[in-house]
Amino acid sequence: MNKQCEGPECTSTKVVAYGLCGGHYRQLKLGKELTPLRKWRGRPKAPEGYAYCNECELFKPEDQFHKTAAGKTRYRCKACQSDYQRRTNNEKKVA
Ligand SMILES: [Zn+2]
Ligand SMILES: [Zn+2]
Repeated sequence: MNKQCEGPECTSTKVVAYGLCGGHYRQLKLGKELTPLRKWRGRPKAPEGYAYCNECELFKPEDQFHKTAAGKTRYRCKACQSDYQRRTNNEKKVA
């Protein structure tokens, strides 16, 4: 008797409200058109020596990623990370 999300192409059974999963409920709340959610089960498995950047959605060599204290690659590659930092810095300056 699992409820399933009514969002487009969604197979999530984690319905939180209005027959929608968390991700689709969020789209609804933001007044956005409901779109298929990207499959997000962590990061795709990258080939040996490569890591996946969640920002540009590409596999890149691990040396293009900063490492966390635990020795894992970060979710963003270095290029996206500096982009991101520039964006957030700008926001801080504006605020
Ligand atoms: Zn959904
Ligand atoms: Zn990237």
